[in-house]
Amino acid sequence: AAKASGRGAVQVFRRDMHDAVVDRLTLGIDLAEAIAQDRLFLQFQPIVRLSDDVMVAAEALVRWQHPQRGLLSPSAFVPIAETSGLIDDLGRWVVRDAIRRLADWQRRLPLDPEFQLHVNISAVELRRSGMDRYVVDQLAAHGVPPSRLLIELSETALMTAGAGATDRLQALRDAGVGVAIDDFGTGYSSISYLRRLPIDTVKLDRSLITGLDRDPDQRGFLAAVLQLIDSVGLRSVVEGVESAGELRTLRDLGAGLAQGFHLGRPLSPTALEASWGPACRRQQVRGLHSA
Ligand code: C2E
Ligand code: MG
Ligand code: MG
Ligand code: MG
Repeated sequence: AAKASGRGAVQVFRRDMHDAVVDRLTLGIDLAEAIAQDRLFLQFQPIVRLSDDVMVAAEALVRWQHPQRGLLSPSAFVPIAETSGLIDDLGRWVVRDAIRRLADWQRRLPLDPEFQLHVNISAVELRRSGMDRYVVDQLAAHGVPPSRLLIELSETALMTAGAGATDRLQALRDAGVGVAIDDFGTGYSSISYLRRLPIDTVKLDRSLITGLDRDPDQRGFLAAVLQLIDSVGLRSVVEGVESAGELRTLRDLGAGLAQGFHLGRPLSPTALEASWGPACRRQQVRGLHSA
């Protein structure tokens, strides 16, 4: 389209391309520095058990406070990390920081025995041999039981990562670490994968629940998917619950676990801890305390 509209347009197009490439390069350089200087940080989003409203897990989500560009979300820099060779460093930073946080909570708080921290791993990281070893070693080094951690991998990551990846996931499972398929429903969503892969949890993408409270077909479809996941012995987490209506429908359907802005936004560790404080103990967060 740029070519068809004449010479000037072509130049504008090329200039944009050039800018985009330079942008990615400089962002990559900044990212390497940010990882080295600890300028990344994790936020934690509650995952709630719907039968009793207890927060039984939280998902760690990485952010980057860029000195000029402000707060960046993972979609702005994880893809750059994946193509620039920085993803291993980024992934290790995330795993280490998450496990450190778990160790700290375990030490200072009466953490519920069931509480689990979810961490996202990208397809590129999964391809690296030794990834499983790194996770297990970090857990041991910080004295955190492996069952406290769960690794989330997107559906597409799992499908493209190859045979070695399955072995690594199996090794994590054997060590006692949880493994979830993430964003289920956005890729091919093959049912046979659910049975074949060494996973224990399925996270259903928000696209599966959009309009749930208004559309009976959507409700029937989701009910069938939840039933299927349950029938192969896996746990489900519904992602992206944004409204009271969606939540009500999920309860009616007997959905197990859920996550979303309506249940809790991603929070700083301090904010999450505050929600574990005595003031809230009676309410939705009581499950975080053994008492
Ligand atoms: P994800 O793993 O599916 O994480 C859920 C994303 O949905 C998060 O976006 C979260 O903030 C957002 N979300 C939560 N509740 C709602 C809701 O009710 N409605 C809507 N519309 N969105 C909701 P975020 O933090 O921007 O992360 C985006 C993706 O980046 C993640 O998707 C994950 O694939 C990736 N990511 C995040 N942290 C990491 C990380 O540490 N390492 C790697 N490799 N990838 C990460
Ligand atoms: Mg995730
Ligand atoms: Mg997800
Ligand atoms: Mg998602």
